[in-house]
Amino acid sequence: MAKKKIVILTTGGTIAGIGEAGKDTGYVSGQVSGESLVASVPELAEYADVRVEEICNINSDDMTDRIWIELANRVRELQEDESVDGIVITHGTDTMDETAYFLNLTVKCEKPVIITGSMRPSTAKNPDGPANLLGAVRVAAGFAVDDDPPENLVWVYFAGSLFDARNVQKCSASALDAMGVNAPGEGASLNAPREKNFFDVSKLDSLPRVNVVYFSVDASPKVLEYAACISDGLVIAGAGSGEFSKAWAEALAAIDIPVVIASRTNHGVVTLNETLAPGRICAGSLAPQKAAVLLRLCLTVSENPRVIRNYFANAQQG
Ligand code: ASP
Repeated sequence: MAKKKIVILTTGGTIAGIGEAGKDTGYVSGQVSGESLVASVPELAEYADVRVEEICNINSDDMTDRIWIELANRVRELQEDESVDGIVITHGTDTMDETAYFLNLTVKCEKPVIITGSMRPSTAKNPDGPANLLGAVRVAAGFAVDDDPPENLVWVYFAGSLFDARNVQKCSASALDAMGVNAPGEGASLNAPREKNFFDVSKLDSLPRVNVVYFSVDASPKVLEYAACISDGLVIAGAGSGEFSKAWAEALAAIDIPVVIASRTNHGVVTLNETLAPGRICAGSLAPQKAAVLLRLCLTVSENPRVIRNYFANAQQG
């Protein structure tokens, strides 16, 4: 059987990080070039014909809307390129879940897109990057982790598991298997439903600005008010089912940009509390940072809360 042709797009992260030899921490992300990263895993050639393109080489906390759009445009071109069978993206783990969801919402995938990274830098004693990259390429080339090949969607492959882009989240600051799902029973499925929402970003070079505001006991409503002044839309990471103090509710009532109510618990489903947040948009089971990705894309189409609410309804599963 002819080997599948896989393009590896590199963006940086710990997988391309360099530090003191043998150490797991205290390194700098995004240092190793795409070429060197791929050359350090010669086993890739056993499973696929790989070629590499470096999109950027950054710590993923420095990811931007502009790079997202460039990445989406390149992934779309590769989807249309008949000489390519699949795409692997290397990425820092901190914001990998947001990039995965952004691509899921902006690229129609007829070929698999598998995102991976690592928790230890390339210079660690036992780096996890090579195994993760090899696993991601194997999945993209049709050697699935389970018996069934995954649907052609955007996935995160990490530490032996495959997670769908909508539900994946970085769940640990330090564990080697840091990527997981944000809602029990709603992920790690090889049959994840195809995303109902789609946004064409090919003609854009930036996205509206959305900030996530985190509620905690005695949090000043001024934080909310200020965030509203510098944003096109807001996501509130509320306590429990997206709740917050009366002081925040009062401040919110005076804010006239679209506001999505999510939960800082990152589990379960938010139900909108119409007393605290009348007429606002409910994140449902979307984690706050995923709600921010969706809201930014919604705002490229409309500022009307009714239209945005519909996109959020489409993003719920089951
Ligand atoms: N700060 C790093 C990044 O996201 C962490 C990692 O890659 O694991 O780029």
